[in-house]
Amino acid sequence: MRIAMVSAHTSPLAPLGGRETGGMNVYVLELSRELARLGYTVDIFTRLDGDLPATEPVAPGLRLVRLPAGPPRPIEKEAIIAHLPGFARALRDFAHTEGPYEIVHSHYWQSGWAGQQLARALRAPHIVMFHTLGEVKNRARFGEDEPRLRIRHERAIARRATAIVAASSHERQLLERYYGADPARVHVIPCGIDLDLFQPRPREAARAELGLPADRPILLWVGRLEKLKGLEILLDTVAGLERRDALLLIVGGDDRAATLRRELEARAASLGIAERVRFTGAVDHQRLPAFYAAADVCVVPSFYESFGLVAVEAMACGTPVVASRVGGLASTVIDGVTGYLIPWRCPEPFAEKLDVLLANPELRANFGRAARAAVERFRWSTIGLRIADLYDAARHEFADRAGIAPSGLPNEAWETAILAAP
Ligand code: UDP
Repeated sequence: MRIAMVSAHTSPLAPLGGRETGGMNVYVLELSRELARLGYTVDIFTRLDGDLPATEPVAPGLRLVRLPAGPPRPIEKEAIIAHLPGFARALRDFAHTEGPYEIVHSHYWQSGWAGQQLARALRAPHIVMFHTLGEVKNRARFGEDEPRLRIRHERAIARRATAIVAASSHERQLLERYYGADPARVHVIPCGIDLDLFQPRPREAARAELGLPADRPILLWVGRLEKLKGLEILLDTVAGLERRDALLLIVGGDDRAATLRRELEARAASLGIAERVRFTGAVDHQRLPAFYAAADVCVVPSFYESFGLVAVEAMACGTPVVASRVGGLASTVIDGVTGYLIPWRCPEPFAEKLDVLLANPELRANFGRAARAAVERFRWSTIGLRIADLYDAARHEFADRAGIAPSGLPNEAWETAILAAP
């Protein structure tokens, strides 16, 4: 079976930790790898944004296809909207010459828009995963305003797609409440994790490898440097800790996040904690396990996370997590077992729980062991099969719907759908 995996605004092969390169990129690449391992043929489609090959083999059965749409260089995500029709046309043309695809699976609303058009042209089921939702970001009120256009399109896609993948039951509720999505079509399937890459390893060796002090408590934050991640709260938290020797590592951020980084550095200086905060810049994904292992606690103070891969990666490495009780984090971090969940958007409760953990190595070790065991359920081999099951169900559903549709449905659509049914 051939899958068209659509990731228009960001390439899954781009370096991670940039402004637009984080969880979704990891997810699209790893899911596609897993599907290819299961025997599917997967083409990932993205916008051509550099002097890069039009098609690039990634693994047996998996390739990346870069489609020309707009200037062949990185542009702001908002500016890509103007080039979406061109992207959708290029996608359709490619599918007509090199397709067909039995499933279209798109990621984020922009790809959802293009994917919906492709699915209609191919008369194939359309599976969508939004990763973030405009309405939810606006309600999280972190200072940026998502355009109405985005929300309007999200609503239309949510109503038309054959199936929607929600990373958590919370996201499913949001889709139903704010977008009127049909509950029967929303499937809660969490993100997967590479549990072979993210594994516990000795803390001392990890610190030595990274040139980090052996004798100071280390707190870790990892991600794309953006306002929604709550880094201001994190700096205020560090300033309020009883452990004055704790070191905070901030991993992530590229040139496009330079302004926010300068603001954060200024805030750390004015709080008198500049010596206690280290910005490493973006770190290669493969090197991250050493950072998680070197840390005593990983902190995720985000205002919103639809899933929050970083928390799960840290737990997979046996590192407890102190996180905001928001979105997917509320279902991945087990409060009082693998870390703590903080229901308030303010530094004091974060500092309190961090001090508890930093003062108690045995508690940290217990949480770490429980954390590793708790994330087994996110193994890619399990999650990949759940997505594959969803594909099968979506194909049946699509064929059934075509089959029972009133006779007004074009014959061709009915025939294609029936032929596509397994
Ligand atoms: N990441 C990375 N290097 C960095 C910063 C982040 O590899 O310097 C990866 C991190 O390991 C995780 C992803 O980016 O897999 C961030 O995903 P998450 O779901 O936590 O946040 P999102 O980007 O979806 O907001």
